[in-house]
Amino acid sequence: MTAYWCELAWLGGSGVEAGVLIECAGGRIARIASGAQEGAAERLPGLTVPGFANAHSHAFQRALRGRTQAPSGGSFWTWREQMYALASSLDPDRSYALARATFAEMALAGITLVGEFDYVHHSRAVISAAADAGIRMTLIDACYLHGGLDRFHDADADAWAARVASLEPLPPHVRLGAAIHSVRAVDPESAAVVAAFAASLELPLHAHVSEQPAENEECLSRHGATPLAVLAEAGALSERFTAVHATYFSDEDARLLAASGAYCCLCPTTERDLADGIGVPSGRLTLGSDSQAVIDMFEEARAVELDERLRTGVRGVYAGADLLRAATLNGYQSLGWPEGGRLEEGALADFVAVRFDGVRLAGTRPEDAVDAVVFAAGAGDVDTVVAGGATIVRGGRHLYVDVAAELEAAIP
Ligand SMILES: [Zn+2]
Repeated sequence: MTAYWCELAWLGGSGVEAGVLIECAGGRIARIASGAQEGAAERLPGLTVPGFANAHSHAFQRALRGRTQAPSGGSFWTWREQMYALASSLDPDRSYALARATFAEMALAGITLVGEFDYVHHSRAVISAAADAGIRMTLIDACYLHGGLDRFHDADADAWAARVASLEPLPPHVRLGAAIHSVRAVDPESAAVVAAFAASLELPLHAHVSEQPAENEECLSRHGATPLAVLAEAGALSERFTAVHATYFSDEDARLLAASGAYCCLCPTTERDLADGIGVPSGRLTLGSDSQAVIDMFEEARAVELDERLRTGVRGVYAGADLLRAATLNGYQSLGWPEGGRLEEGALADFVAVRFDGVRLAGTRPEDAVDAVVFAAGAGDVDTVVAGGATIVRGGRHLYVDVAAELEAAIP
């Protein structure tokens, strides 16, 4: 039994509780009580929240950070050429080193579960990398059949399914997910095969949807329907589905997604970096760091509300607690870990303490703690990270990865 005592903790409502004792056993929260004495428990400063779920990641793209920002940087499509050049230079050893360092950077930022949307298919490398960084992963293996780089391709959707099935059994820190890369890369008949496979195993199913106007235009001219409508026709939509981006959603797309009980994963720091546009939050909201332009779930969370303010001229569409829920509970559920993402008895013992003694959050009152964290914290304010009941980050330092040195070594 390990015990942690939180100065303040967010238990899922609009406010916070003081003096919360969390006892962990077998990787789960065995007992949780407010108004408790500190005693011999490990002290967690500031506000403790559930561990963050990064619901959409391509770990290897961390190597592009800062390298695609020149004023002549072009468009999403020219960025994609740079990304493909990087992807084609990867071998499993390099994928492992880059993913391990990137996942460790995520751990420092309070991320305890990553949804790795994988079309490079160095599966064993990223599985080991997540274990060695101390975090959980849903390996979202992407079917990619047309366009892009040949090396991403499976021969057809059945070959994809056979390859994915061969990944089992997986170690306990990993669960399987499926992905239709996009309607650009997977035809409707093949998308139906992927959707049926995911349904047969009750896997999370993710897809990039309506990220770019050109994607919508091409889909409309080829299939006479929007990307989401094509995916719906292929049987992809359900409460296990996540539409990533949803930037150029029609009103009907937004209605269709919400009615299916699916999730919408916004990746605002990537979408603004690539000049994609502002995503349309519809369905149950989750968040992802996607291209790793930055790795900071506070920034992703507040961007949803702040972008809505710019678009609508109205403040307060999303409350701080709604955005925290998107970054935690919704993300865990969308990635196939419904027993995580919340601080309650029986839940996975994954949580994060955000310190209030740094310059960004000094002076925060307990009654404002949730809003202060969501609207002003940075990844560098994460003090302690516990995953599966074990501390992996303490005092803002990863306990067994020298993160900056490993990033330096992994990025040529
Ligand atoms: Zn993506």
